[in-house]
Amino acid sequence: MTSITYASRWILPIDGPPIEDGEIVIENGLIAEVRPRRTPANECRDFGEAALLPGLVNAHTHLEYSVLRGFLEDIPFFPWIRALTVAKASLTTEDWLWSTRLGALECLRGGITTVGDNTDAGVSMQVLSECGMRGTIYQELFGIDDREPVDPIITALQEKISAHRYFESARVRVGVSPHALYTIRPALFDALNKYLKSEDLPISIHIAESPAESQLIEHGAGSFAEMFSRRGITWQSPQMTPTQYANLLGALNPKSLAIHCVHQTPEDTALLAASGAAIIHCPKSNAKLGAGVAPLARWLRTDGLRVGLGTDSAVSNNVQDLWEEMRFALLLQRAISEEVEAVSAAQILRLATLGGAEAMGLSDRTGSLTPGKRADMIAVSLSTPHVFPAADPYAALIYSARADDVLLTLCDGEVLYDAGRWPTLDSRAIYKQVRLGRLKT
Ligand SMILES: [Zn+2]
Repeated sequence: MTSITYASRWILPIDGPPIEDGEIVIENGLIAEVRPRRTPANECRDFGEAALLPGLVNAHTHLEYSVLRGFLEDIPFFPWIRALTVAKASLTTEDWLWSTRLGALECLRGGITTVGDNTDAGVSMQVLSECGMRGTIYQELFGIDDREPVDPIITALQEKISAHRYFESARVRVGVSPHALYTIRPALFDALNKYLKSEDLPISIHIAESPAESQLIEHGAGSFAEMFSRRGITWQSPQMTPTQYANLLGALNPKSLAIHCVHQTPEDTALLAASGAAIIHCPKSNAKLGAGVAPLARWLRTDGLRVGLGTDSAVSNNVQDLWEEMRFALLLQRAISEEVEAVSAAQILRLATLGGAEAMGLSDRTGSLTPGKRADMIAVSLSTPHVFPAADPYAALIYSARADDVLLTLCDGEVLYDAGRWPTLDSRAIYKQVRLGRLKT
């Protein structure tokens, strides 16, 4: 049996109060004990002025878009999503692999141990298996044009899912992402729902992200409707909110992640909570694309609603940094509500750990430092000039800490990042390959 003890000034288990001067015993990849410090310094790894906490859960991203960082800047949402589609067409499978590895490198550097990752190119399963991160990989599905038959789209999806299964493990599992309400037509949703009954896969879907989406779904108007008519795509507005429409299509259930939900009425929130679906909040992406501010404070007051946090991709947010995301989420809610009580630092840290794990159906194994759970744990320095002194560890982590304050990242007790080294990823090769700049603009 392998056993190792980690100690530090603070331990934040998330499912209980912080422990000052504590230690964590990890045995065979599991958390065996969380307790006050008792092991002599020469018999444990002591991080000193630092915090030990669960690995962060980035519940929505597109790791494969890392190579597109900085490429599509400062343009409105609609031309942004069109330009992204064109840029994607110029990349090869090999390009996508290196791009996804760059995303994984960044996640592990910043203490992310679990991702909910959408993939169109289909290489994320391989990369997660290589680097040892935990996650659910959602294979994206598109099909708005009813001139394109449904059956071949579902057959192609089945083939991709079968290929992904080769990489499935205790850490990595597969799901499906019907991309969005404006890229999947109702007949394709029906066919997907039939397929999901036989496969029992979790889903992730972008809902109510932009005002343009609401205009389309509620009124059949706006830039999406104009694009449909230019391309000869027939599409009927259901004359309801995006959340109501997602529910009508059968996209909301306890295995669904509803990504964004920026434009949501109180009734929509109640509907979503009743459906059992979880919401993933991506505030920086929403702000950067001018999509709006989601009602996070309301969600946190809604009983039974599971909420997680996501960075979204490097193309809409630039960084896979959940520390920055947590800080931004909290400050934004306080700014718009004009209330300090709107969201607390402890609530935000919970969203980025246990909240995300609950949303993804993984809280039986990760999200908190609870004996019996898998040892997904990080150490974060509290001795850097912008963090020290850390009398209140929640305040130190949420208002001051950054991704580069992370000292150690463990998944199942396995070291995935440790003081400038990634034992499972070749960082030099990743920089070299991504620098080759295959992206054609
Ligand atoms: Zn997304």
